[in-house]
Amino acid sequence: MESTNVLVVGAGPTGLTSAAALTARGVHTTLVDAQPEGANTSRAAAVAARTLEVLEEIDVSERLVKNGIQARNFSIRDHGRVLIPLDFSGLPTNYPYTLMISQADTERVLGERLEELGGRVVRPKKLVAVRQDVDGAVASFDDGCSRRSTISASTRSRSRDRFAASIVSSFARICAAPL
Ligand SMILES: Cc1cc2nc3c(=O)[nH]c(=O)nc-3n(C[C@H](O)[C@H](O)[C@H](O)COP(=O)(O)OP(=O)(O)OC[C@H]3O[C@@H](n4cnc5c(N)ncnc54)[C@H](O)[C@@H]3O)c2cc1C
Repeated sequence: MESTNVLVVGAGPTGLTSAAALTARGVHTTLVDAQPEGANTSRAAAVAARTLEVLEEIDVSERLVKNGIQARNFSIRDHGRVLIPLDFSGLPTNYPYTLMISQADTERVLGERLEELGGRVVRPKKLVAVRQDVDGAVASFDDGCSRRSTISASTRSRSRDRFAASIVSSFARICAAPL
């Protein structure tokens, strides 16, 4: 059975960001996704300023900005009539705009950064079960493989609890930022 410190399931924006952030901190992380390749469908079209601020931590914001279009003003219209005008230009941030970029591009940039850091997405690999004990958790996949993840908030070790808690809090900060 293979072993990893942290298993991240799902290589969407959340999983890619989490895996890159953990890998950048030297945490051995395995990222798996059930799909044979990244989705190229129409999903999110915009990244908010706060997300760009958070993604500075893993050196991705500038790359996204280079790949997107800065929309300082945005309006919701009914034909020619403006219903809701939005002006981002006065926001107290380095990114006073909404960045128009397709989710496929966002995921590509995050995936490239993860690879630069030495990580990758293992695909196709679908999680089917997780069993947890005092030493961590064992994840099982539909190809018959299992992988032990050694960091678990339920561990009895105090230092490992603190370490796990700090990772969980990093996740919370990353995941709290809207895409
Ligand atoms: C049409 C559309 C338009 C949208 N527009 C916007 C927008 O403008 N702005 C915005 O902020 N958001 C938008 N969203 C929402 C945005 O796409 C999601 O918020 C975003 O994809 C969530 O990212 P995620 O990483 O959490 O999950 P996901 O992108 O859903 O990724 C989850 C991943 O987990 C994998 N997975 C699932 N189960 C397993 C398993 N058992 N084992 C292994 N892998 C697994 C899946 O294959 C998938 O790759 C839109 C969504 C849609 C569908």
